[in-house]
Amino acid sequence: MKSQCDVDAVVVGAGFGGLYMMHLLQQQGFTAQGIERGSDVGGTWYWNRYPGCQCDVESMEYSYQFSDDLQQKWEWTQRYAGQPEILRYANHVADEFSLRDNFTFNASVNGANYDDASEIWTVSTDTGKTVTARYLIMATGCLSTTNTPDFPGLADYAGDTYHTGDWPHEGVDFTDKKIAIIGTGSSGIQAIPLIAQQAGDLTIFQRTPNYSIPAQNKPLSPEKQAEIKANYAEFRARGKMSPAAFGADFAFNPSSVFDATPEERKARFEEFWNYGGFNFLAAFGDLSMNMEANEFACEFVRGKIREIVKDPETAELLCPDTVLGCKRLCSDNGYFEAFNQPNVHLVDVSTHPIDRLTAKGLITNGKEYEFDAIIFATGYDALTGSLLKCNITGSNGLTLADKWAAGPTNYLGLMTTGFPNMFTITGPGSPSALANLITGIEQHAEFITQLIQWSQKRGYTRIEAEQVAEDNWVNTVNTRAAATLYPTCNSWYLGANVPGKPRVFMPYVGFPDYSEKLKSVVVEDYAEFRFS
Ligand code: NAP
Repeated sequence: MKSQCDVDAVVVGAGFGGLYMMHLLQQQGFTAQGIERGSDVGGTWYWNRYPGCQCDVESMEYSYQFSDDLQQKWEWTQRYAGQPEILRYANHVADEFSLRDNFTFNASVNGANYDDASEIWTVSTDTGKTVTARYLIMATGCLSTTNTPDFPGLADYAGDTYHTGDWPHEGVDFTDKKIAIIGTGSSGIQAIPLIAQQAGDLTIFQRTPNYSIPAQNKPLSPEKQAEIKANYAEFRARGKMSPAAFGADFAFNPSSVFDATPEERKARFEEFWNYGGFNFLAAFGDLSMNMEANEFACEFVRGKIREIVKDPETAELLCPDTVLGCKRLCSDNGYFEAFNQPNVHLVDVSTHPIDRLTAKGLITNGKEYEFDAIIFATGYDALTGSLLKCNITGSNGLTLADKWAAGPTNYLGLMTTGFPNMFTITGPGSPSALANLITGIEQHAEFITQLIQWSQKRGYTRIEAEQVAEDNWVNTVNTRAAATLYPTCNSWYLGANVPGKPRVFMPYVGFPDYSEKLKSVVVEDYAEFRFS
């Protein structure tokens, strides 16, 4: 007889992953305790409140599909929802399904230890609260641990500092202020046009220029919404068949860029640019797989940048020379246009990095720049950062930090051997951030629930992935990534944005194949898991 624990499962995180996991556990009669470091639900959409924050997946797809009642009743107002609307949606879901009461908020997990004898996880938090559970479910998100580079002199700076991923709830008034933004990824690219409108003076420090396609955001008409809702199941099914689990309405063009004449090529790129966002990569079938094909798309976007940005020197600095889509493609609302404002300046720090921060600002290339505030749009310790921060120790004293010292290894992105009964929702090794995250979350939460139920029905108390299954899966993830253009640049998918982080491509490429794999695992009675 095994020892009793406080609850069946601890769920870490109250973002979309934690909320749905909690819903399933409650629905299936499990007891569960949620732990969340924020003061409320929403996860990434709770923390990212910077001006312009908006999802790059369309609202009708970036939403739960587990409840037809929910998806029919909720009305989105924009093609791409902004952060406030998505946070309202997360709160609505929490209320509608009575999920909030099982979460402890304002508590960060600072330890999780597995005891082999009792087969129980003990999860501790910075509030002193400790919970014991049979199962530990990490719904900590892919992009939730902010990365602020360790610039020399960081503590000397006397002005205000902000990180886009941890923005003040009350907002910030930049009127007439002299502001710096470091970083030109999705967050910087979204924030810059709005801060440029308000700030007296805005200087952007760019290390690597990024490709960005206009979002072409617009109000979502009631007619369009009703049309999708009339056949929502089919629309969702189409989305799941696409490589990134969204794009049900995308105009995928399978033909090769080499089969088109220069005029046809230009016309098609123009059409996809005007459609907006990620769909641009679907303009031709070979853009994501072939470097020469990709270069046509790069040159088209560079041409757009040169057309939009009036100052030729600034335009050249903004032109990327990497593969388009290697770093996550950005979508914007007036990003390149912002550089035509007289109060906006671009400083290239690719060859002369930021040397240090000073009391008044920062120094690069021998020159000191002074600011009232510095905004770090410097991204995240993606996919693994939030898991490692929890100080997890599995079977026989093995720590996750030691196991993943050379990069994350696991089976299906769901379980890592040596950590029995611990699951990761949209963990590294799964499509995670390369796919529609809400769709991936639903898939994982449902798989985990069914797996636990299957094992309990058979009287098992311990679930673990087989080592050989894990080794094979790691190979599969690597092989798939190697067949793409993703490894050709320094992206957060590879951990390349965090100094010292192992360079390993973390997400699994291809949502539909991944879904098939999960289905076959269920059909084969979870043959590659070990139960006892
Ligand atoms: P990011 O893509 O990692 O961009 C961080 C930026 O900071 C990069 O330009 C990076 O330059 C720069 N940087 C980092 N360290 C630096 C240093 N020491 N000196 C100078 N520059 C430095 O982070 P993000 O913009 O927050 O976006 C991360 C991901 O979050 C996105 O790719 C996306 O998946 C998600 N996101 C999505 C949305 C949306 O839905 N539209 C919005 C925001 C974020 P390098 O490129 O040279 O490393």
